[in-house]
Amino acid sequence: MKTAVYPGSFDPITNGHMDILTRSCGLFDKVYILVSDNPDKRCFFSTEERVSLISDAASHLKNAEIAVLKGLLADFVSKANAQAIVRGLRAVSDFEYEFQMALANRELNPKAETVFLSANSSHTFLSSSLVRQIASLGGNIAPFVPDSILSKVMEKFGQSS
Ligand code: ADP
Repeated sequence: MKTAVYPGSFDPITNGHMDILTRSCGLFDKVYILVSDNPDKRCFFSTEERVSLISDAASHLKNAEIAVLKGLLADFVSKANAQAIVRGLRAVSDFEYEFQMALANRELNPKAETVFLSANSSHTFLSSSLVRQIASLGGNIAPFVPDSILSKVMEKFGQSS
């Protein structure tokens, strides 16, 4: 069985994340979508909220399973018997950090290959921080997040749908 782990902050999950997750589910038998719970990186949505949003957005993906990352990614990958770490690449600006993380993860767990999927061209500009910025200024985020979570995300910013 080929298993992959797709780690991230997902603060909140966007259509760009969903595209990478959906394509990963087509490539692997099982995909863990792994929500970081890192006290050093404060997120706008709590871990529970991020998990709940992903659970609503990805309920149709039967081979995706949500998990929360407390420790090292390389350790989670070993425990899950996964062969791959999936990351999305939007632009050259993502590359340096992603390449560094891929090399570090391979040092920590030589069995883990990082697989990069290129972003859909219509999502290359899209990030969770952009969604948060637009929503906090009262803008329309409907084009950027899955329909199934739109009202919950808007509610967090005090908007009604
Ligand atoms: P992190 O804090 O770990 O970078 P993110 O939630 O920002 O977490 O991103 C998780 C992964 O999803 C990263 O590999 C990132 O490059 C990818 N990603 C984020 N937004 C998009 C997008 N619009 N299209 C494709 N991949 C994306």
